[in-house]
Amino acid sequence: MQKTVVKPGPVHEPRAEAAGVGIEVKNVSKYFRRTRSEDPQSALLNVSLSMRAGTFVCLVGPSGCGKSTLLNMIGGFLQPDRGEITAGGRTILAPGADRGMIFQEPTLFPWLTVRDNVLFGPKAQGARTPAVEREADDLLRIVGLSAFSRHYPHQLSGGMKQRLAIARALINKPGVLLMDEPFGALDAITRGHMQAFLLDIWASHRTTVVFVTHDVEEAVLLADTVAVMSARPGRISGVIPIDIPRPRSPDAVDSEEQVAARRAVRAFLVGSTAHV
Ligand code: ADP
Ligand code: MG
Repeated sequence: MQKTVVKPGPVHEPRAEAAGVGIEVKNVSKYFRRTRSEDPQSALLNVSLSMRAGTFVCLVGPSGCGKSTLLNMIGGFLQPDRGEITAGGRTILAPGADRGMIFQEPTLFPWLTVRDNVLFGPKAQGARTPAVEREADDLLRIVGLSAFSRHYPHQLSGGMKQRLAIARALINKPGVLLMDEPFGALDAITRGHMQAFLLDIWASHRTTVVFVTHDVEEAVLLADTVAVMSARPGRISGVIPIDIPRPRSPDAVDSEEQVAARRAVRAFLVGSTAHV
């Protein structure tokens, strides 16, 4: 009998370099019932939005307009009632490590060290190799937490916790980073540092970023495109390209171009809240 020679394959698939994937939100509606007896109310109605691979998109809109709902659907934590959302051309059916999610309050594992928090995802997937451990150490250096790798989350400041949450998402080389008002709980100075840090990370990783904020100044500083949402039911009221060259200095918030861009965004925001 002929022997079949089976060559051992690599233990783990080579980890693809991070590259953003495009997201398409196509005619998406989502309904919620506040009480069992109540008819379902539309939280989002016929929302369509195209996000090109590798771009930085900010979602801006009044409280309750459905920003988190939309982000959670891109994350795969919620399913649309109508329409479809794709990432990299594939319909989103469930959460996945290819879409990293960052919340306002970072969801870290308090019983794990900083380094083990970063390594949690790869370990859960059985991919905690020496190479991945080196990547974790690199990421900790990039986010400025090398000296804290053996500390625990409760020993970190708010900004450090957010940087750790970002490192933990980035180790999975996500095609998309979904951020829900991630810097909303930080003081103004830390927030400025975090914005600069995020732009550096984005410039080097080229992942697609979908960033929710209700701060128009922040949106104009960060985004390639600002999508403005209107409330009840949530719709996209405007999509504004921000063609300001990068790097954009936070010191230039009073520059003519940043002021003009904020005005353009607010024009859609004013319209969107006029009927609330
Ligand atoms: P935003 O993030 O823009 O503040 P949300 O996406 O959290 O808005 O909420 C949009 C609307 O959907 C709100 O009216 C909110 O009350 C409603 N909503 C969100 N999640 C639920 C839920 N799980 N059950 C019922 N209603 C919800
Ligand atoms: Mg929200």
